[in-house]
Amino acid sequence: MANNHTYRYYTQSLNTDGLWSELMSDAPVDWDSLTFSMTETDHMYIAKTAIDEPWGPGLMRPYGNISISPAAGVINYGQGLFEGMKAYRTAKNRVVLFRPEENARRMQRGADRLKMPPVPEPIFIDAVEQVVQANARWIPPMGRGALYVRPLLNGSGAVLGVAPAPEYTFMVFSTPVGPYFKGGMTCIDLLISDTYHRAAPGGSGGVKAIGNYAPGMMPSKSAKADGYSEVIYLDAEEHTYIEEVGAANFFCYRDGILYTPELTGTILPGITRDSIIELARQMGIEVVEGKVAAEFAMEADEAFCCGTAAVISPIGSITLGEITATYGNEPGELTQTLYDKLTNIQNEIDEDSFGWVHAVPGL
Ligand SMILES: *Cc1c(COP(=O)(O)O)cnc(C)c1O
Repeated sequence: MANNHTYRYYTQSLNTDGLWSELMSDAPVDWDSLTFSMTETDHMYIAKTAIDEPWGPGLMRPYGNISISPAAGVINYGQGLFEGMKAYRTAKNRVVLFRPEENARRMQRGADRLKMPPVPEPIFIDAVEQVVQANARWIPPMGRGALYVRPLLNGSGAVLGVAPAPEYTFMVFSTPVGPYFKGGMTCIDLLISDTYHRAAPGGSGGVKAIGNYAPGMMPSKSAKADGYSEVIYLDAEEHTYIEEVGAANFFCYRDGILYTPELTGTILPGITRDSIIELARQMGIEVVEGKVAAEFAMEADEAFCCGTAAVISPIGSITLGEITATYGNEPGELTQTLYDKLTNIQNEIDEDSFGWVHAVPGL
């Protein structure tokens, strides 16, 4: 992609605090050309610790490549986690994050599972805030996208045998992203994978372990080549119940009840998923977290998937073998209502009675 907005000229100097400071031109950003793709921003955060040492605060530095041992635990054995969140400019003329404490806690649970030292929540939040503050010029205007923030935790120390690395790195970088839907939500067509599973009981499906994602690329690419937007994975034991849509959580609405797969350890506990459950319950809608058979979901009135990137994507059809269930080309009524309510809270258009938005200080 042509990045006509990333040309910038700056001089770097190490100030007395030991922090990098930059003087740069205010090259305008072409907000309308942004998609969900990588655009380099100015600064990133990095902290390191030895195994069994407590985390201390890290440092901001210019965005750029990092160097790593060829024997690092993360590149040999996948000892790594990621997170994803967005900073938005809102109607109250503030910059907010959406429930970042939940991302911090999820990364801590992931760290426990992958035998890494968990990053304390205050350090996680401070890092995310610093990255948003330092890259504030990359936050799109309200309604035209967000600054996507990507925290990473990985075993960066050298280790030859399969064992926890001796050193860990916590990094946070950011990139501006465009609105997921330009001009209204669009319905997606999904294919249930008859061959592949995302996660098995006792595995790592319930945490954002980096190793969970590469195995999905081939099934996803092949579904896309056949005209579908993404793959739906069924459970690995009975191959009957819906688990997730690629890297998004699944919901369906049938006879006035909202259903979503229960968190059994193979499903990633999405923060958007949790927010939708709370919102629906506040609206007086019954929500059932349980086993959602593919055949049951294919008889539903509405279906959608959700995650930080799109918030909510309405599902137009689901194909299982020879059978295609269609929900229509327009988002269902509840799907649209939930999308509007959630994005209005995120954009501070509606009152946030849940305490979900987290203002970034100084912006
Ligand atoms: C990140 C992710 C989600 C969505 O989680 P959010 O917290 O809502 O962004 C869902 N499924 C998988 C597999 C994921 O990695």
